[in-house]
Amino acid sequence: MDLRSKAAVTETLKSFYCEAVMNLMQQLIFPGDIIGTEEEFAPSDGAFAEEGNLRSSQVGVTTGSGGRIGVAGIKNVRQFRPGMAVLGIATDSMHNIAFVRIDSLRSGTQSFVALKDGKLMSPKPDAMQKHRPREMDGERKPKAKALSVGDVVAALIIGEGRDSYTLSINMPDFGVVAADCNLCSSPMQYDREAGALKCGSCEVSEHRKISNLYGDTNKIEALLKRYIK
Ligand SMILES: [Zn+2]
Repeated sequence: MDLRSKAAVTETLKSFYCEAVMNLMQQLIFPGDIIGTEEEFAPSDGAFAEEGNLRSSQVGVTTGSGGRIGVAGIKNVRQFRPGMAVLGIATDSMHNIAFVRIDSLRSGTQSFVALKDGKLMSPKPDAMQKHRPREMDGERKPKAKALSVGDVVAALIIGEGRDSYTLSINMPDFGVVAADCNLCSSPMQYDREAGALKCGSCEVSEHRKISNLYGDTNKIEALLKRYIK
């Protein structure tokens, strides 16, 4: 399992999510979520105190002023369902399975949430052989994975189970849309010629299942909207 610092993941998010995509995304609070401590705030509507913490009593967004904090409810919250496109962060990546934490999505007054993670079965990186010199055949192949922990991923929901959504990144528009270098945490650029991601700082190349829309937040926003149903 790749372990990367939370800070690096947060940086990926900050550098990737442009305003348009941020407007689509929404940090929703769920019942039971900790929104502060009793030391910091007094609870107002939608919040209650428990053992020193303030927790939400409903689905919504935090509100508050004058030392009080609460949660304003959101009425039109629905769950993602198969056929919709989602954006999320890879949280675990092995060769036969990868997990993605799915972000909430807002469309007009409607919000969509994932109350469970997404999983990808046997995700494959882009074909690597066509760019490799012939003499390298038979040598030890690099262990490329479709996703690396911390990657921002656009995926299609193709199934839903009790504990998770089954995702696909097979189509050209889906796959990794933003990533940081595993060595130095700088943003990776898409080198289309090589079919790989290349670090702008240390110049290391990494293979992934890369989306055609890599780094293009406007097109990714359009993709997400196209699959809202
Ligand atoms: Zn680097």
